[in-house]
Amino acid sequence: MSDCIFCKIAAGEIPAKKIYEDDDVVAFHDIRPVAPVHFLVIPKVHIPSMAELQPEHDALIGKMMTTAARIARELYCTDGFRSIVNTGKVGRQEVYHLHVHVVGGPEVLPAMLSR
Ligand code: 5GP
Ligand code: ZN
Repeated sequence: MSDCIFCKIAAGEIPAKKIYEDDDVVAFHDIRPVAPVHFLVIPKVHIPSMAELQPEHDALIGKMMTTAARIARELYCTDGFRSIVNTGKVGRQEVYHLHVHVVGGPEVLPAMLSR
């Protein structure tokens, strides 16, 4: 998708604070963090939202989740974290390229509830 901001981040065409990248997924810090730890995990392939997922994506979604968990551990989210997938209009999705938010730290609940 040529006009998708997360496709451009995945391709290295626009800058992002990348944490991890392989052939399938990219993790990077959210540009507007709501907590001390707030990063996103995306597939490199353009999937607009969770609503479009199909069985062929099973392995990819598994990799997104294990990547999120590993990075959360590496960033010392020792007391837990929230993982959020906003989907579509009702889910208040802003960027239509599938992503998992990982949000951790002491201010997590108040910050997310005020958005
Ligand atoms: P959602 O679509 O789940 O509502 O949220 C999209 C998230 O992407 C927001 O938290 C927003 O701050 C983040 N975001 C939007 N544009 C950029 C960008 O260009 N770079 C980064 N690092 N994050 C972005
Ligand atoms: Zn995209």
